[in-house]
Amino acid sequence: MSRVLIIGAGGVSTVTVKKCARLPEFFDEIYLASRTLSKCEALQQECGVDRIKGVFAVDADNADEVIKLIEQVKPDLVVNLALPYQDLPIMDACLATKTHYLDTANYEPKDEAKFEYSWQWAYQDKFKDAGIMALLGSGFDPGVTNVYTAYTAKHYFDEIHYLDIVDCNGGDHGKAFATNFNPEINIREITQRGRFWENGEWKETDPLSVREDLDYQNIGVRASYLMFHEELESLVKHFPTLKRARFWMTFGEAYLTHLRVLEGIGMTSIEPINFQGQQIVPLEFLKAVLPNPGSLSDGYQGQTCIGTYITGIKDGKEKTIFIYNNCDHAACHAEVGAQAVSYTTGVPAMIGAALMLKGTWMKPGVWNMEQFDPDPFMELLNVHGLPWHVIECDSPFAK
Ligand code: NDP
Repeated sequence: MSRVLIIGAGGVSTVTVKKCARLPEFFDEIYLASRTLSKCEALQQECGVDRIKGVFAVDADNADEVIKLIEQVKPDLVVNLALPYQDLPIMDACLATKTHYLDTANYEPKDEAKFEYSWQWAYQDKFKDAGIMALLGSGFDPGVTNVYTAYTAKHYFDEIHYLDIVDCNGGDHGKAFATNFNPEINIREITQRGRFWENGEWKETDPLSVREDLDYQNIGVRASYLMFHEELESLVKHFPTLKRARFWMTFGEAYLTHLRVLEGIGMTSIEPINFQGQQIVPLEFLKAVLPNPGSLSDGYQGQTCIGTYITGIKDGKEKTIFIYNNCDHAACHAEVGAQAVSYTTGVPAMIGAALMLKGTWMKPGVWNMEQFDPDPFMELLNVHGLPWHVIECDSPFAK
């Protein structure tokens, strides 16, 4: 008997909920809670009340509310698909009720963009002592990219030295400007300073100032920009042989121009301002006027290509492996009514949850994805809509 409580009912959650609902062999009972009850009810209607057994309104910023909800539902696992701000209150509630925990993004304080694991790693001993597990970052990046790295290190190399994670959205949603996941989190991530790991230290770059033109499978050449992404922090810790680790994401000219203008006029700021006697955060206001990422999928054309280039040593010789997935926006829309960015995050969240509930990935403590055997996760990616491919190639990066 496995019972899961999913918190959040946005773009990513929609995919996870629908996928879990189709897999009674992993998820006997599913419960859904979020800030806006009507969104949970709509998903329950779509999936059926026999699969989504109960829906609830919850403010997950408030650990006591989450504790009460967990005590009512008594889940084996809480899947947190709300926003990074809610990670710690939900982890606190899991600790208080001795319930396993999973998320897809590291904790973020509201007033400062940090993108680091320090707060959640600090729960390691508490979770261990309580006999419960937290799986951090079970999306695509972080998530699948961590598992790709572990899989490649396990099966293709004696030692890995250079890691480049590449994330390309080659799709077109037809909107002038929209983000593919929560706009607030997305814009906080993109506007921070770039950072990468080299020879034992972090090096910083101005935001989106380093570019490579990379050729993506089934998409073509796209301008790719170096930025910091949270999985770099855990990967350099858990693979200390890495001499360099970087993350690249593609952006089109129109997107960058919009972003520059919005930044230039202060609309991406997270500093509260006084507006007609009320404190508002410009970025939160911007989120409210941008398209909801969950609404982009109808008519979205093209594919994503996300993968990892790894260069290392096997039997004394250097080689490079690229491991990647292509995901088609229209196919995701046809399957679950979502675009590929929600899909590529929602499916790995389902797989992480399934492996925890089956006991395949289960040990008390707080863990990142690369700390488990990658093989069972990789098998399930192929079965549940995110097939992957491996090629041996030359490194495409400028020396
Ligand atoms: P959305 O904004 O679409 O959904 C977030 C959901 O959380 C909404 O339903 C929202 O409620 C709910 N929520 C927000 N605050 C609270 C609260 N205080 N209490 C209860 N519920 C709340 O975001 P996405 O689905 O795009 O993203 C979900 C998560 O996935 C984010 O943390 C994001 O960073 C992460 N992500 C991870 C990726 C990866 O590859 N690892 C990639 C993409 C996203 P309401 O509907 O009322 O607003």
